Amino acid sequence: MRMTFPHMGNVWVGVKGMAEKLGVECVVPPPTSQRTLSLGVKYSPETACLPFKLTLGNMIEALECGADTIAVLGQYGPCRFGYYPKVQELILRDLGYKFVMVRESMGVINMIRYLTNRASPREVLSGFRLGLAKLKTLDNVEQLVYKMRAIERDKGMATRIYRDATTAIVSAKDHKALKRAEQEHLKKLTQLPTVASPEPPLKIGVTGEFFVVIDPFANMDVEIELGKLGVEVQRPQSVWELVRFNPLLSVLKLREKEKSIRAAKPYLTQHVGGDGRQTIGEKVLHASNWDGLVHLQPFGCLPEIMARNIMPSTKETMPVLSIIYDEHTGRAGMLNRLEAFVDMIQRRKRRQAEACV
Ligand code: SF4
Repeated sequence: MRMTFPHMGNVWVGVKGMAEKLGVECVVPPPTSQRTLSLGVKYSPETACLPFKLTLGNMIEALECGADTIAVLGQYGPCRFGYYPKVQELILRDLGYKFVMVRESMGVINMIRYLTNRASPREVLSGFRLGLAKLKTLDNVEQLVYKMRAIERDKGMATRIYRDATTAIVSAKDHKALKRAEQEHLKKLTQLPTVASPEPPLKIGVTGEFFVVIDPFANMDVEIELGKLGVEVQRPQSVWELVRFNPLLSVLKLREKEKSIRAAKPYLTQHVGGDGRQTIGEKVLHASNWDGLVHLQPFGCLPEIMARNIMPSTKETMPVLSIIYDEHTGRAGMLNRLEAFVDMIQRRKRRQAEACV
């Protein structure tokens, strides 16, 4: 079996780590690129959302590289994510590819048993631990990268260190190697020369539909671009945040997702699919500690359309910039809007500071 899975931001790092520990051969699709998008667009229904097109493109490229088994998440749900696996499977079969599709709807236990060739629970657990540790390490490095991007003197250095860290984390074979990679790259980040500025950097939250938020190709490196503008990005959604299991936080419902859903309740009580409720909740939760919010949504994503329309009516106020992504979105337009947004927030802060003097 040669297993593959869509990239989805950093998800592949954890899945690959887990699979390799269990002796499953993996075919990681080539990095998501313009070709991936073109393939996805060519074979998807025109109105499908961007994550559908990009993950389909990933699958086609992985099958071209020799994968024969595709593992995917997504079962039944109120938004289009519920029918991704079935429709993508039909499209790929129509194109003539031969493969086995292992879906979450089989049940997670069955899925794991099939993919790991019935490995023992102990082996599965050890694979899971390594995969999760990789995601946690990446998250730790990422948090510091957000801070350093905003204040580094030589723009681009923190991003370079982050890429090196990702490579080291992917190739780490055990927890010790992982720890070494983490310490080494955190140290490099803290040693970066910084600019001397009297003002602390702006803090801007990035939230919205999970896939475009976590996938740098899908969101056109919005976090890197904000960092270049001297902004410290705050991103509560991450793969690690989604998969980590902390019994105490879960029981008390204190994880970020649960807190934001609770915060959104006065404005939206129902689950509308995707991350619509969480988007509203992040605005409510962080109105007092973020300077602004960049809301990312794929074109035609109903949960985020709802969130976008509800957000202006919350009593907690904060400047919000909505960016809609599809295959026609232009990078230059996005950069212009980011610059204007950051500039507007800086002026607003200055005016507020002057008014207080
Ligand atoms: S949340 Fe939006 S973009 Fe994501 S799968 Fe659902 S409809 Fe598509």
